[in-house]
Amino acid sequence: MRTINTDLRDTFGRKHDYLRLSITDSCNFRCLYCMPDEPFTCTSSSEQMSNEEIFEISKVFVERFNINKIRITGGEPLVRNGFSTIIEKLASLNINIALTTNGVLLHKYFDLFQKLGIKDLNISIDSLDRSKFKHITKRDQFQNVWNNITESIDRGFNVKLNVVVMRGFNDNEIAAFTALSYQYPIEVRFIEFMPFSENAWEKDKVISIAEMLRIISEYHDYYKVQDNIHDTSRKYKINDKSKGFFAFISTMSHSFCEGCNRIRLTSDGKMKNCLFGADEFDLLKMFREGKDIENSIQKGILKKHKEKGGQFSDLETVCSKELVNRSMIKIGG
Ligand code: SAM
Ligand code: SF4
Repeated sequence: MRTINTDLRDTFGRKHDYLRLSITDSCNFRCLYCMPDEPFTCTSSSEQMSNEEIFEISKVFVERFNINKIRITGGEPLVRNGFSTIIEKLASLNINIALTTNGVLLHKYFDLFQKLGIKDLNISIDSLDRSKFKHITKRDQFQNVWNNITESIDRGFNVKLNVVVMRGFNDNEIAAFTALSYQYPIEVRFIEFMPFSENAWEKDKVISIAEMLRIISEYHDYYKVQDNIHDTSRKYKINDKSKGFFAFISTMSHSFCEGCNRIRLTSDGKMKNCLFGADEFDLLKMFREGKDIENSIQKGILKKHKEKGGQFSDLETVCSKELVNRSMIKIGG
């Protein structure tokens, strides 16, 4: 009988208890900052984890390594065949299950999520303008996404809106997005544009937290709210009458690697110990060969770099052409 039941700590003492699980690298959108230009090839279903493999590998993380939260992501998780089966099985692990989605298919799953007690929905939306939304996602789906956002709020889900801010694309909507946090009980999160394989990243397109705050201050008063140690976002509020918060995920200008508690598993079963890490640990291959994946998980965590996968430290030191990584859609954000 196995005795391992241990925290996953890296060499810097960081405890990892949060798994970001990608269940597909396929998507019904084509966001220009996320996907390489077409033709884009998705991983074949035989190379991806099956529904059963997703559950069994996740179970090892939960039962052997005290993982207490799984965020399901992708690609677009709601396009995955068997999504309902996957989430029902994961919910049986009795940990916090959350979802990141582009929102367009959410209406099909509200009832299921409520039945399973899933409350946390991060929904991506980068423009409140229909034609700009279409330009960014290459799909004319603004209204459907917006309807599903308002229905999520009405149904009482914990809703966070993810907004990737890029200079020249949607920086003129920062104040309008911020105003949503006054009107609705949600967290509006501005994400700095990050470099990944073939996503046309340029330093000049990144708008730092300092610049975003300057823009917001022209339209709104605000004050800082206390963050928690593992929060990747820095939270603010317009005033005490605000129903929600606005926040920044400032990966590029202010690192939050110090408190990192995240591990990633790609849809083809590779563990990544960092979003920006080049190292991948093929858990699926070992699982299919009947080998022990626990050892690999532990070894993989011990190889974690102090920050940004050891590839850069801040906006000034990043050289996007030299980064070794997958595209965001293949990692799972
Ligand atoms: N399809 C789902 C969605 O769009 O929410 C989940 C997967 S998506 C890869 C997860 C998150 O990563 C989204 O909020 C998306 O906006 C964000 N993202 C993708 N590429 C990014 C980039 N280059 N920089 C910053 N955030 C990015
Ligand atoms: Fe698809 Fe999400 Fe990437 Fe957009 S950000 S292309 S919705 S995976």
